[in-house]
Parts: sequence; C-alpha cells; structure tokens
Amino acid sequence: MHALSNETLVKALETNEIIKHEAVAKAMLHCERRRYCLSYSSNARDEDGREGNEERLWYRDRPLPIGFNATISAPHMHALCLNFAYEHFLKNSNCYSSSRRRTSKEEEDDDDDDDEEEITILDIGCGSGYLLGCFSALIPNKKTKVIGIEHIEELVDRAIENLIKDKKKDLLDRGLIEVIKGDGRDGYEKGSRKYDLIHVGACAKELPQKLIDQLKAPGRLIIPCVKNNSEDNTDDDEDPNNRSQSLLVVDKHENGTIVVKNEMDVMHVPLTDEKRQLVLN
Ligand code: SAH
Repeated sequence: MHALSNETLVKALETNEIIKHEAVAKAMLHCERRRYCLSYSSNARDEDGREGNEERLWYRDRPLPIGFNATISAPHMHALCLNFAYEHFLKNSNCYSSSRRRTSKEEEDDDDDDDEEEITILDIGCGSGYLLGCFSALIPNKKTKVIGIEHIEELVDRAIENLIKDKKKDLLDRGLIEVIKGDGRDGYEKGSRKYDLIHVGACAKELPQKLIDQLKAPGRLIIPCVKNNSEDNTDDDEDPNNRSQSLLVVDKHENGTIVVKNEMDVMHVPLTDEKRQLVLN
C-alpha cells in the first residue's frame, strides 16, 4: 500500500477491507495522519535511505518513529482498533441510542459537568495523539470525551500540538479531548468515572485487572498483551518486543460477565515505565 494522500490511504484500507465501517473511514478522514508524524525533512529516511518528505512515508502502511522509542502505529493497526471500538458501540446500540433528545439548555449545562458525558474513552499510551482525534469523531451525534494518557512528557506536548495542527483545538478547549501525563498501567481513575472503551497502544505483560475494573458495563478493552504460554516466549525475556503478542478484545457485558477474545498477533512497543522505555534500543 503506497498512498499519496490521507484520502487515498483511507480508500486503500477500505478497498482491502481492513476498514469495515463507514464510520471508521470517516473518523480516519477527519484526522490527517501527516499532522501526527514527525517532520521528515531532517532525520527520517525510508529503508532505501530516501527522505520521507519526498516519498510521503506517512501515508505508507507502516509504523513510524515519533521519538523516545515510540511509534505512531501503522494505519492498518489504527483501522483495526477503530473497527473493534466501533463494533462495541454497534453491538450495544440499545445502551447508546439517544432515546431522549437533550434540550439545548441541557447541552449547555453539560459542558461543565463530567457526569453528563455520554461516551467516555481512555487511550493509554496515546503517543502521537492520532487516535484521540479518531475516537472523538467515531460516533456521530454523540458527545464523546476522549482522554489520552502518555508517560513521556514531550510526547504529551507533541500530541497536543499535533491535535491543534489538525484543527482539534476547539475539542481540547472544551475538554472533549484531554491529554494527561501519567503512567497508564493502572488506567486513569478520576472519581467514580468509568469508561465505555479503553484502548491501549502499547503491549502489556499481562491483562491488567485494574483496566477491566475501570470499564462500564457494557464496556470494551482493546489491549495488546504478551502471550504467556506461547512456545516462542521464555520467562527470562522481559522485553515485549522480543515476545509474541496478541491483540485482546475484552468485553464487560451489561451483567458484568467478562469475555476475552484473542483477535490476532500484533507487534507493539512495551507498556512499561518511563526509564525503561528511554533506554530501550
Ligand atoms: N496509538 C499510538 C501508539 C503510540 S506507541 C499512536 O499511534 O501514536 C505506544 C505509546 O505508549 C508510546 O508513546 C509510549 O510512550 C506509551 N507508553 C508506554 N508505556 C506507557 C505507560 N506505562 N503509560 C503511559 N504511556 C505509555
């Protein structure tokens, strides 16, 4: 896949049936991938040594470095996660339908009151900030609050800059997108807030119960996780990059039942502590 614009990239992902829903295509069109990538004029070259700004590396289907041993994920990975996210809202549409249209007075009052948010999404390891923009646009006509948590301070600042470049300043100003510096391994607890959806952009060593606890019922957690009982993995290998990983989709049903599905093999940077990430090669 060698697209030359965001539009042709999204089209190619649709043609190849990686994007499964129009809402996902629309969300990805709403976010211009290039604005979340590093400027390639100086440091990045593709595998043949050509400068990225000539080749438009950012529209290729591959992850790209964003500094600090982190990457913006490949477009197909973003698309797959957005599919899983959207399917959660489709499957539980009875819980999300606007059976009652809010008056404009209620909408005004809403701006000041977190409890009134209709959909709350947490993106752990939000890196470039790209998925924050996509999640925010994913469910049309629904007020959605998206919180990104990222442990590298510079990436927090950069995610905010990227979102502003991508015309999302208004969403940041209204608190509908928030980027927080912190260790996301324990999720992000604030009062009694629970999340409709938690997405993790880095690979966990094991499925964190704390994240499951922070889901609403119904709620969905999308998380890459080290395969604990794979023959490929040995216990002495601490770096998830050297171990095989699965993308898990964990559903908390309305009655509280938890169902874990192993969707596919993936390769993500580790969900780790800041110091460890900065010394990784
Ligand atoms: N979806 C993001 C993925 C970024 S890579 C994108 O496409 O841009 C994964 C990110 O997880 C990195 O930015 C890394 O700094 C962050 N990360 C790793 N461990 C973390 C932790 N414990 N808490 C918060 N962020 C973490």
